[in-house]
Amino acid sequence: MDGSNKQLSVLKFGGTSVKNATNISKVIDIIRPRANSERMVVVVSALGGVTDLLQEAGNLAASGVSSYKEVFYEIRYRHLDTVMELIGADTRVDVLAGVNTRLYELENLLTGIQMVGELTPRGTAKLLGYGELLSSFIISQALKDNDIDNVWMDSRSLILTDNKFVHGTVDFKQTDARIVQMAAQETKLWMVPGFISSNTKGEQTLLGRGGSDYTAAIISSALKADILEIWTDVSGMMTSDPRVVKRAFTIPRISYNEALELSHFGSKVIYPSTIIPALKSKIPIKVKNTFAPEDEGTLITHNIAEANGDSYVRGVSSYDNISLLTMEGSGMVGVVGIDARLFSALARKEISVMMVTQGSSEHSISLVLSPSDAEEAKLVLEKEFGLEIQMSMVEPIRIEHDVCIIAVVGERMKDTPGISARLFAALARNGISARATAQGASELNISTVIPKKDKVKALNAVHEEFFLSNNKTINLFVVGVGVVGKTLLNQIASQFQNLMDHNAIELRVVGIARSNRFVLDEHGIELEHWPERLEVASAGTIDQFVQQLIDMNLRNSVFVDNTANELITKHYKRLLQASISVVTPNKIANAAPYEQYKELHKAASKYGVQFLYETNVGAGLPIINTLQDMIHSGDKVERIEAILSGSLNFIFSSLSQGKDYLTAVREAKALGYTEPDPRLDLSGTDVARKILILSREVGAELNISDIDIESCIGEECAAATNDAEFWAAVENFDAPRINAQVAEATKAGKRLKYIARFEHGKASTQIAAVGSEHPFYNISGSDNIIAFTTMRYRTNPLIVIGPGAGADVTAAGVFADIIRIINH
Ligand code: ADP
Ligand code: ASP
Ligand code: MG
Repeated sequence: MDGSNKQLSVLKFGGTSVKNATNISKVIDIIRPRANSERMVVVVSALGGVTDLLQEAGNLAASGVSSYKEVFYEIRYRHLDTVMELIGADTRVDVLAGVNTRLYELENLLTGIQMVGELTPRGTAKLLGYGELLSSFIISQALKDNDIDNVWMDSRSLILTDNKFVHGTVDFKQTDARIVQMAAQETKLWMVPGFISSNTKGEQTLLGRGGSDYTAAIISSALKADILEIWTDVSGMMTSDPRVVKRAFTIPRISYNEALELSHFGSKVIYPSTIIPALKSKIPIKVKNTFAPEDEGTLITHNIAEANGDSYVRGVSSYDNISLLTMEGSGMVGVVGIDARLFSALARKEISVMMVTQGSSEHSISLVLSPSDAEEAKLVLEKEFGLEIQMSMVEPIRIEHDVCIIAVVGERMKDTPGISARLFAALARNGISARATAQGASELNISTVIPKKDKVKALNAVHEEFFLSNNKTINLFVVGVGVVGKTLLNQIASQFQNLMDHNAIELRVVGIARSNRFVLDEHGIELEHWPERLEVASAGTIDQFVQQLIDMNLRNSVFVDNTANELITKHYKRLLQASISVVTPNKIANAAPYEQYKELHKAASKYGVQFLYETNVGAGLPIINTLQDMIHSGDKVERIEAILSGSLNFIFSSLSQGKDYLTAVREAKALGYTEPDPRLDLSGTDVARKILILSREVGAELNISDIDIESCIGEECAAATNDAEFWAAVENFDAPRINAQVAEATKAGKRLKYIARFEHGKASTQIAAVGSEHPFYNISGSDNIIAFTTMRYRTNPLIVIGPGAGADVTAAGVFADIIRIINH
C-alpha cells in the first residue's frame, strides 16, 4: 500500500448503502474527497436484499421447483440495471460483460443445485457469496469511472477460516499475515467484497449473515488502521432499535464493551464479532449514515466516562431468538450440588446457556437457551434428574418459546443505584411480567425475560424510563364525542405543541369512538381531521373498540370515557387489568354498588394504573383531589357540606330572587341547565350520587340506598307520563309546597338551598334554609361550593367554590386528570 504517512481508514458500506445506483453514487461522494488524502480499504456488502434473494433462489432450486429462475432473473435485473444507471457509456459494455460472466456462473450453480436437489453448507457458501462478488466488482468499476483509482482485492485470498462453511471461524495468524502482505503493495484504495472467505482447501466460506462488518474489522485490525467506519442507513448506534422505538436517538460515544453487549442483545446495526478485533487493536469505530454523512454518528472507543442524562444506561435492546427452560421443585431447596449437576449435564452435550436465574429460595432455576438447544436440554435434564422427577421432588421441566429478552446496557450502571428497580417499575406499570432476570457478572447489562407479545411495548416503556423520563408519550383512547368529548379533543389539539415544546409530553390520540363506529391509529389521529376520520370509519361496537385497543398493547395507555353511559363503565375493569388507566367524568361506576366500586379501585392499584374521576363532582373544581390529599396527609374528615348541582342551585337562586318555583323550573329547562327530563335533577339523585362518591373517598362503605334523599318532586310529578302532566303536577302540587317553604325562609331572613351532607358515616341531601352568616348563602348561578370540616380545618372549614358545570370546565378537568397520569 502507499507507504506515506497518510491516515489509513477502513470503510464498510452495508447493503442499503449500496442498494442501487442512486445509493452507490452517495457512497462515491463520500469516498471521492478523501481518496487522495487518505489510504483506504473499502469493504462492501451485497446490494441490499440480494443475499436473501440468493438464499431464496437456492432453496427453491434445491426443492426442485424451477421458479428459482424468476428469483435469479430478479437478481440479474438488479445488477444489470445498476450498471446501466451507474456506469458511463464508454466503459459500460466491459462492465456488463464482467457482471454477466459472474451471473452466468451463478445461473450454472443454481442449475446444479436443482439437479442434485440439495443445498449443502458448502453450496450455500458458494451461492451467497455472489452478492458481494458482484457488488464489489460494480462499485470498483464505478469508482474508476469517476476517476478514483482502486484495486479490487479478493477477500477469499485474505481471510482464512475453518470448514464451518456458512459461519467460519477465522484463523487470525494466517489472515493477518496475508492482509499485511497485501498492504505492502503500492495502492491507495482497495475495494474488497465483505462476507466471503475461504478454508485451507481454497473452498469458499462465509463469515455469517451480516458478516461484512466483520471483514472490515479483521482488515482494520491487521493493518492497525487509524479508524474503522461502518456506513449504514441510520446515524449511528442508537439508544434502541429505531424501527421499534420511534424516539430512539444516536448515542454519541459508547465503549467497545457496551457496543458489544448491545449488538449481542440484538442491536443489529453492528455485527457483534466486529468489535472484538477492533477492541484488541484499539481501533476506534465510527458508525455513520451514508444518507446523512454530515451527522456525527457514534464513536466506539475505550471507556466512556460521561453519563446519559441521569444514568449510565447506554442503550436498551431486545433479543427474540431464545427459549426459557424452568426446573423447579421442593426437592431443590437447600440441596447441595444441584447446579453443578445441571451445568455439567448440559456441558457434556455442548449446550451453552445464555442466562441463568435462580430464585433466592433455590426453589427454581431458569435457563435461557437457544431455541435449537431447548428440547435437547430438556431431555438431558430429565435424564439427569429422572429420579427426583419420579419422586416428585422436582416438577416436570418446562420450556417456553414465546419469550424474549430485554437488556439494559451500560458499563457504569453499577455507579447509579436503582436501575433494576426502575426497569421493573416501568415494566410493571405497563402490565408486563418479568419471567426471569439476571444481572450479567460484568454488570454490563441487566436482562430480563418477558413474553414475546410484549416486546414492542416493553422496549418503548423501558426506553422512555431511562432516556425520556421527562419526555413521555401518552396513548389516548377517547370514547364519546358529545359536547365534553369534542371540547376535550379541541383542547388537546390546541395544547399539543405546547405540551411537546415545554413539557416534552406527546399526547397522542390513538383511538376515538362513538356508539357505533371508531377509528384506531397507532401513529396518532390528526386532531384537525378527527370528525372526517370518524365519519369514514367502518361501523364497530364499543366492545370491539375496547378489545382492539387492548390488543394494540401500547404503553402509557389512557382510556377516556366522556359519556354518561353505563355500558361503557362495564369495560373499566378489563381496561385496568390490561394496565390501561381510565379517566372519566362519568359518575356511574363510582356510584355503582359498593362491591363493584371497590373491585374497580382495587384493580387500578393492583395493576399499577390510575382511575381518575375528578370531574365526577363539581366538573373541573379540585374537589376529589383536595379530599384525597387531605386524607393521604393524615387529616380526618369530619363533615362535608356542599351544593353540588348547578341546575338545582340555579332554581333555588331564582327562588331567593322572588321568582316562583314553576317559573324557576321553566327557565332552568329553557336555558339548558337541566336534563331534558328535569326530574333527573329535581329528584336529587344526581346530587346523591355525588355525595356518595365523596363519602366513599372518605372511606364510608355506603350505597345509594343508604342515602337519605329529599326530592323536590312529589308523587304526582313523579308519576307524570308526558310533558303536559309533568308541568301540571309541578304547578298544582310541587310549586305550592316549595313556594310556601321559600316564604317561610324569607320571613326568617334565610335562603333555601339544596344541600348535600356527609357526617358521622351518614349521607343525605335536603332542601335547607341558610342564614346570611352561612358560607352557602350567597352562592348563585351554576356555581358549586364544598365545605370540608376536618381535624385540621375544624373551626374554619376548607372551602372550594367555583363553576361546577359546563363542557369547558368539565373537559379541562378531564385534561388535568390526563396530565396527572403523566406526572405520576
Ligand atoms: P447494513 O445493511 O448497513 O449492514 P443493517 O441492516 O445490518 O445495515 O443494520 C442497520 C439497521 O440496524 C438499522 O436500519 C436499524 O433499523 C437496525 N438497528 C437495530 N438496533 C439498532 C440500534 N440500537 N441502533 C441503530 N440501529 C439499529
Ligand atoms: N450480504 C451479507 C448479508 O446480507 C453480509 C452483510 O451484508 O454484512 O448477510
Ligand atoms: Mg449489517
